[in-house]
Amino acid sequence: MKGGLVLVLMAGVIAVYAQAPDVDPRFHTYGEVCDEVAALAESHPEICRVETLAYSTQDSVPIIGVIISDNVDEYEDESAILIVAGQHAREPLGTEASMWLINYLMENYGTDPRVTEWVDSFNIVFVPVDNPEGRNVVMEPGPEHTLWWRKNKHDNNGNGVFDTLYDGVDPNRNYDYRWEEYGGTDPGSEYYKGEHPWSEAESRLVRDLVDSLRPAVVMDLHSPDSVGGNKLWFCWYDSSAHSYHQGGFPHYYDVALQLAAHTETEVDGEYYVARPANNIKPKLQLWIYWYSGACAILMEITNKCFWHGDTIDTIAARVGRGITYMFDRMLEKGLIVRTYDSENDVPLRAEVIIDGVTDTTFPARLCGYNGRYHRLLYPGTYTVRVRYRGTEQVFENVEIVEGENTYLNVDFPGAAVRESNFEPPDIKIDLLPAQVEFWAPAGTAEIFDIVGRRVFSAQFEGKLVVNRGNFSPGVYFARLSAGKCLINKKFVVIK
Ligand SMILES: [Zn+2]
Repeated sequence: MKGGLVLVLMAGVIAVYAQAPDVDPRFHTYGEVCDEVAALAESHPEICRVETLAYSTQDSVPIIGVIISDNVDEYEDESAILIVAGQHAREPLGTEASMWLINYLMENYGTDPRVTEWVDSFNIVFVPVDNPEGRNVVMEPGPEHTLWWRKNKHDNNGNGVFDTLYDGVDPNRNYDYRWEEYGGTDPGSEYYKGEHPWSEAESRLVRDLVDSLRPAVVMDLHSPDSVGGNKLWFCWYDSSAHSYHQGGFPHYYDVALQLAAHTETEVDGEYYVARPANNIKPKLQLWIYWYSGACAILMEITNKCFWHGDTIDTIAARVGRGITYMFDRMLEKGLIVRTYDSENDVPLRAEVIIDGVTDTTFPARLCGYNGRYHRLLYPGTYTVRVRYRGTEQVFENVEIVEGENTYLNVDFPGAAVRESNFEPPDIKIDLLPAQVEFWAPAGTAEIFDIVGRRVFSAQFEGKLVVNRGNFSPGVYFARLSAGKCLINKKFVVIK
């Protein structure tokens, strides 16, 4: 125990000298975040893993993820929660709340039954500093130091020099939801949205995490410059339709109210306020709800970016503790769909549609690569459709109740695509660079997208040619049925 104490004290001493003088040394520098989570992963290897998820846009600083779960080295059939902090360089309180929560989970796993249940039940993924190169501008002493940097360091004019008047992209305006119509075209602006959606490593990494994990809950942690804080924003108010979006608002309203009521501000006895977000900006929170349907919540921590003294610790603990409400909420009033192919013994990335909830004009709500879909819902009775490769299974009268989740186990036996080993010489699918060729004396050609929606179908004799250019970029499956022969082949369309 003594050795541990000495280590902690030494880290404190180093921090005082490593940091810009106008930043309270209680705040973690990016380097201190990396050292601390590496030490935690080493002392708790069963439940904590640290991974480099990407490298920052300009300086190639590693962007780390902290994954907390039982059997943390396996991608188990568990629901995911994603907690992102530090998209904005000068907003370090989200990082502090994340670090408090990571430590709290590590310290109490195995002794506190609530913590143990969360860690055993979920894949909990933290990105404690999404924009480390920007954070370094704020936290590190030196010629680049300024407290008020928000963006990353993208060298917009390509002159090889970091220029605060011209450089940097706001990672939280670089998502491909309503990007075209958003202003933010001036590189000198604090809200510069970048040259195109996904131009920044800091936003791409969140996109890829969401796409593979399909989290039920996403927290995006920020702080405002002066006012409008101690607030959390949930999904959403549709300002074009002048209405609350029915896929999110009715279900996430109570979640947001409860989270707010569980999160005390820096003022004793005062709590956060919940508001529906306006769906008008190319932001992480709005993109996630639009793209995946997850319960995405943006928290504005306190009313300013920087504090001094032990108020910093108080804020980190209160926000961290507040977020644990989301873990409890994920244990009840939710729909969990597990999709698999029992013949091939593999999970499937099926699409889930909840009638009256899922907006089918939005991208398909998919299971993660572990075959799991988890959606928080308002208690009630729902009809659920699960689709994979053109087959739909319908479940009526699915009850969502207080106190527990409702599970649907959905089997599509034999549905997973396997490359065919045997092809009769006159019946085949040829995948050529520009086209897909179907060959059979008489057959049916079909093409499905990644979630099994049939995007092409035709009967033919002899040979049928389909141009790949007819399809938008993505993964597709070609199927040829001819007599008793069925051939499936996977192909990819790239731009
Ligand atoms: Zn922010």
